Amino acid sequence: MFTSSTPTNINTSRFAPSPTGYLHIGHAYSAIFAYNKAKQNNGRFILRIEDIDLERSKPEYKQAIFEDLKWLGLSWEHPVREQSKHFQQYKKALDALYKKGVLYPCFCTRKKIRDEQSASASAPHGPEGLLYPRTCRHISKEQRDHNTDNGMPFAVRLDVEKAINLVSGNLKWIEESKGEMTATPAILGDVILARKDVPASYHLSVVVDDHIQGITHVTRGEDLLYATNLHRLLQELLGLHVPKYDHHKLLLDEEGKRFAKRNQSVTIKSLREEQKKSPEDIYEEIGLNPLT
Ligand code: GLU
Repeated sequence: MFTSSTPTNINTSRFAPSPTGYLHIGHAYSAIFAYNKAKQNNGRFILRIEDIDLERSKPEYKQAIFEDLKWLGLSWEHPVREQSKHFQQYKKALDALYKKGVLYPCFCTRKKIRDEQSASASAPHGPEGLLYPRTCRHISKEQRDHNTDNGMPFAVRLDVEKAINLVSGNLKWIEESKGEMTATPAILGDVILARKDVPASYHLSVVVDDHIQGITHVTRGEDLLYATNLHRLLQELLGLHVPKYDHHKLLLDEEGKRFAKRNQSVTIKSLREEQKKSPEDIYEEIGLNPLT
């Protein structure tokens, strides 16, 4: 459904940060990991700005991403794709999924979902927290129409069971360090594919963009490995290319905790501007050098 103008016979990797804070030392590892994946194969390296969260994304963070990565010695293709400029494409993907009958509107508030989850003795847990209890899956067409006619805001959810039944055979992917993996998208439940405030979601936009940009190697932290179970299902439903995946280890601080954007002392901006570190200091700290 989407034509990709980019070749898929050239190895292409990407680093896809969200400009919702300054990059930290864990991002430096992730960016260089992706960069090296392209360089090892004489391939293309792409930087993508994942800014669909219009409220949390800020121009100064985007600017800092460019400065930090350049300072780290990386270069990437231009123009840089910014997701907030491509909502039409995500809408096209949503429309295609609607036509397949695998989406439904969800009018629930967060509070309503929480109340239902706590009222249920055994609300199943998924990788993103308690699974959505599928309340809006069961409301009548009349009620749905009534709600939409009255302008009630809604998110769009994937009916994961129905979607799984539509695809034939097992969904697989190649995880470079592990080999062939079998996707189990049901573990995520009926995820949101378009939010109430934004006509897209991370899961939807990432699979559409990886296809359009001809990404052959998706590298990202192992905290997102679970998401690939769902991404494979979306790729299959939408007829998108299937890249190879390499989910890398996460860097940990001295206390064994993951670096976070809220921890100002480890932002690349602070390391370079205030602590006067050099790019080489960072390479040493993360144990990775950009290939030349
Ligand atoms: N934008 C995501 C993040 O900043 C990364 C998504 C991905 O690499 O698939 O965590």
